Amino acid sequence: MESPQRVAETRLPTSHGVFRMLVYRDGEGLEHVALTVGDVTDGAPVLVRVHSECLTGDVFGSHRCDCGEQLDRSLDYLQQQGRGVLLYLRQEGRGIGLANKIRAYALQDVGYDTVEANLALGLPVDCRDYGVAAAMLRDLGIARVRLLTNNPDKIAGLERNGIAVVERIPLQTLPHPANRRYLQVKQQKLGHLLPPLATGTEG
Ligand SMILES: [Zn+2]
Repeated sequence: MESPQRVAETRLPTSHGVFRMLVYRDGEGLEHVALTVGDVTDGAPVLVRVHSECLTGDVFGSHRCDCGEQLDRSLDYLQQQGRGVLLYLRQEGRGIGLANKIRAYALQDVGYDTVEANLALGLPVDCRDYGVAAAMLRDLGIARVRLLTNNPDKIAGLERNGIAVVERIPLQTLPHPANRRYLQVKQQKLGHLLPPLATGTEG
């Protein structure tokens, strides 16, 4: 895979605080983002959140998942800590794309769970690739991370690509009636690390 190239950067004031925003373009022309706070190049492990694009959750505040809430919490947490990185990867719907994600939602409305719906559509359950994330971290001078996640696949994905995950920091959100079943399935079928009855997850 061709490494993503850093193509633009600027200072970005937001409602969460001020970030440095860097844009990377990968070999397929997709544009990924790194938002950084503080000095992340001093060699000490860096707090990192790897967030996959979720238009419905991130932008519209959908209650089908808790991506938007996780994004907000992550950005707040990075600002509180004063040092860290959020990678925003353009792999909508765990990599299946927006239209397929919405088709899967429609199947969920007639009784399929999030895993069964993807399988019924002939799609992989999760085709996210963390090679791009690892390459972006390397470009930022980061080799060791403290990863903000509930998802063991993310840890494995980064480590497979040469990034050392020295600590996992859980991220929890509150369940809504509309996403409770989704969160249970993520926990039971996708191996997310959540406390019993609890419920924050990601995807
Ligand atoms: Zn989502």
